[in-house]
Amino acid sequence: MEERILNTKIRVYSYNELGEDDKKLVEMARRATSRAYVPYSEFHVGAALLLDNGEIVTGANQENAAFPAGTCAERTAVFYAAARYPGARFVSIAIAAWQNGDFVEDPVSPCGVCRQAILEYERLGGRPIDLLLCGRDVVYRIEGIRALLPLSFEKF
Ligand SMILES: [Zn+2]
Repeated sequence: MEERILNTKIRVYSYNELGEDDKKLVEMARRATSRAYVPYSEFHVGAALLLDNGEIVTGANQENAAFPAGTCAERTAVFYAAARYPGARFVSIAIAAWQNGDFVEDPVSPCGVCRQAILEYERLGGRPIDLLLCGRDVVYRIEGIRALLPLSFEKF
């Protein structure tokens, strides 16, 4: 028997420690939370995705009475970006959440389905997509979605 241990490196930043590009992306993700449609969960999530052509695409979660029809902020942004700018590579994505009148204290991370969706675009782009997971006072910076989805399902 052999034991293997998988590690995930997370860099923890205060907002002021971020570079200007990251600050902009974080702010756009935070602003995008106001565009969520969440009458059921009341959990507003926003995502801002930077593309290698300089464009920033935002998304917000959209719920539906038929629950499976809704979608997360991350996939809203990723799928829109892929449809609007085919061939553009994704550089980084910031994710923020707002609930009960404030941004959530702990950084939010993408759900498993979104991790899988982001992974496919990471593979297509041929380079890691950096993640900026926003809490109220700290931002987790993670290099590449694979760090959050070890042993992922991939088409080879
Ligand atoms: Zn999701």
